[in-house]
Amino acid sequence: MMLESFSFDDSKLEEYNILGSKLNINLFVKRDDLSQILGGGNKFRKLCFILRKAQKEEYNAIVTAGGLNSNHARATAIMAAKLGWRCILIIHADKPEGLNFKGNLKLASLCGAELRFTEMETVSDEMDRAMTDLVELGYKPYYIWGGGHSLEGTYAYYNAIDRLQKDLNVANKPNYIFLASGTGATQAGVEIGIRQFYPECKVIGVSVARKSNRGKIAILESMAELNSFLGFPIKLPSDIEFDDSWIGDGYESTYPELLDTIRWAASTEGLILDPTYTGKAFHALKMYVNNGTIPSSANVVFWHTGGLLNLMASNQI
Ligand SMILES: *Cc1c(COP(=O)(O)O)cnc(C)c1O
Repeated sequence: MMLESFSFDDSKLEEYNILGSKLNINLFVKRDDLSQILGGGNKFRKLCFILRKAQKEEYNAIVTAGGLNSNHARATAIMAAKLGWRCILIIHADKPEGLNFKGNLKLASLCGAELRFTEMETVSDEMDRAMTDLVELGYKPYYIWGGGHSLEGTYAYYNAIDRLQKDLNVANKPNYIFLASGTGATQAGVEIGIRQFYPECKVIGVSVARKSNRGKIAILESMAELNSFLGFPIKLPSDIEFDDSWIGDGYESTYPELLDTIRWAASTEGLILDPTYTGKAFHALKMYVNNGTIPSSANVVFWHTGGLLNLMASNQI
């Protein structure tokens, strides 16, 4: 089975020679941070599939949820504005005072999304209420889980691995893919795609928040869902790599080694990472190289999932 998406130019795969030679690997960076909408990121790629489905089914409004600096909320608000759709975002945080909206939230608000702030426990009630409100106003609202967690979102990254074959020649078959993993939808799509198209490659998901057990269960569930949708191209594994050692004290927390790695990547070759997502994934990559888990001369694809606005909103770096 295939899913349609909005047409978009795929992001570039760039070789980073200076960082690669310092790490003794061949380093390729998949630039999903540079895609068609400002801030780009993996949420854009997911939404290209999610919203194409909604468009075909004649929806004309969106309800979704996210945290104070949610890339998903920002990407959804921009896409809704481009489509001319109404958008209500349920933000699980206290409303910032006055004009103190930063990063993603500032863009979401500028794009005309209605922001409703609430506690974590009441997000789903508030989403239901927003759905009802939009229906009463005559809209047909589409409900999107936080983070764009969905079959379409997972499929987007399966499709991305399929497309990756165009960018990598035979000599450059990837040995490792590193990516920041949150809800795991991105990793699940990558895992299925890799097993189908590059079965020798290892995927290393670096957790940005969840403990390993919970994270793996979610990823394996999304993998099973996609695999059955696709007609079972792969044999599902019993285990995957979802490393929870680089989170620090939790989502959005930082630690000095992480900040050093972010400074090092930027100053060495202009690779801009953020402290919430990509910085943690790249820091893990660096540590895997340092401790010999990744052999020298390996072909490593670092999947840059976005996060610029998290960096710009951060007061830790
Ligand atoms: C949301 C996000 C992730 C995690 O994606 P999941 O599919 O939820 O695992 C990684 N990087 C960035 C920049 C993100 O915004």
